[in-house]
Amino acid sequence: MFKPAKVILIIGAGFLGLHSSSIAQIQVQVKGHMNQPSISSKNRQAIAPSTKFEFHPLPYSYDALEPYIDRLTVEIHYSKHHRAYYDNFLKAIDGTDLTSIEISDIFRNISHYPIAVRNNGGGYFNHTFYWEGMSAQGGGLPTGKIAEAIVNTFGSFEEFKKELSESGKTRFGSGWAWLCLDDKGNLFICSTPNQDNPIMDIAEKKGIPLLNIDVWEHAYYLNYQNRRSDYIDAFWNLINWDIVNKRYEYGMLTHKSNLIL
Ligand code: MN
Repeated sequence: MFKPAKVILIIGAGFLGLHSSSIAQIQVQVKGHMNQPSISSKNRQAIAPSTKFEFHPLPYSYDALEPYIDRLTVEIHYSKHHRAYYDNFLKAIDGTDLTSIEISDIFRNISHYPIAVRNNGGGYFNHTFYWEGMSAQGGGLPTGKIAEAIVNTFGSFEEFKKELSESGKTRFGSGWAWLCLDDKGNLFICSTPNQDNPIMDIAEKKGIPLLNIDVWEHAYYLNYQNRRSDYIDAFWNLINWDIVNKRYEYGMLTHKSNLIL
């Protein structure tokens, strides 16, 4: 019986033109008094834009990617590193117009925003994208239209594998290797430093991401120590080609990423 009262209170706050952080405070107060679970994410999105960005659940258990990526690495990477980017992104945009803008639109103008938005927004998006792109049943050869596009672009799957791996292995310092789609519908490979991504206006070559490899040491050092190369070789056993194909088909139709956070 308390849930509707909470919803009305938040809508009321919206009508009164209260600041988004005030709404968040009200939510906390109400929650504290009633000790009820929070309203569904769907309702939250509709009512309080400040909370529209969600920390997506890991699409599998911590040990699902073994033996290629060990349980502890996944747990720390997801629950500490990824979580910190998410939390710090929310802090960086709190009280600004960015709370109600799609993250891709933030990235397309990232050069105009504080570095904390770039680093943490990138970290939040890139990791969600990374987890989604892997599966315990992954690996093997691509399927669907992406398979054809890869062969047409790179000559063969083996050549593509070599080029993407090389991109990750030669990225100086921390960053990401990417397979992307450009605005003409062509595939290309690139790498980005830190938590940048190819959607950002500061990217050397801009495009829609289809697949990424995290080459920060925190992605592999527990199991592989300094051997980034071995981790990248192992990564090929985890790629969820079904998801990559969906991203490709969506990107070809819309010229946008299908990942809504
Ligand atoms: Mn990472």
